[in-house]
Amino acid sequence: MSENNCLFCRIIAGEIPSNKVYEDDLAFAFHDINPQAPTHVLIIPKKHITSLTEASKIDQALLGHLTLVAAKLADQLSVSAGGYRTVINTGAGAGQSVWHIHVHLLGGRELGWPPG
Ligand code: 5GP
Ligand code: ZN
Repeated sequence: MSENNCLFCRIIAGEIPSNKVYEDDLAFAFHDINPQAPTHVLIIPKKHITSLTEASKIDQALLGHLTLVAAKLADQLSVSAGGYRTVINTGAGAGQSVWHIHVHLLGGRELGWPPG
């Protein structure tokens, strides 16, 4: 399920170091290298899925799992009370720059709406 040339598959495999905050059979989470908020974590599936556009019905439970992992981490990282945001950028026009689906978890500051 992993792709040799995929940055996030390589992070999951430990070939590229990351500041890991969570791992289970299906998911992996680590601090973003260029944080956009005091707490900025990326939650990714161990299965390589390029983007939300490429996800299919068989990924339904996996995508739900990523969302619930984000909520659990928001609690653990103490950003739940102040509010937090989960974001999946899909496509270059929406800011996606890594082609392995990931949920951004952002918190620890006021988050404006609409996002840029
Ligand atoms: P996107 O722009 O695709 O929605 O989000 C990709 C995220 O991955 C960005 O926030 C970027 O800072 C982060 N990122 C890119 N390369 C690395 C890396 O090597 N390590 C970590 N921890 N984050 C990365
Ligand atoms: Zn990948």
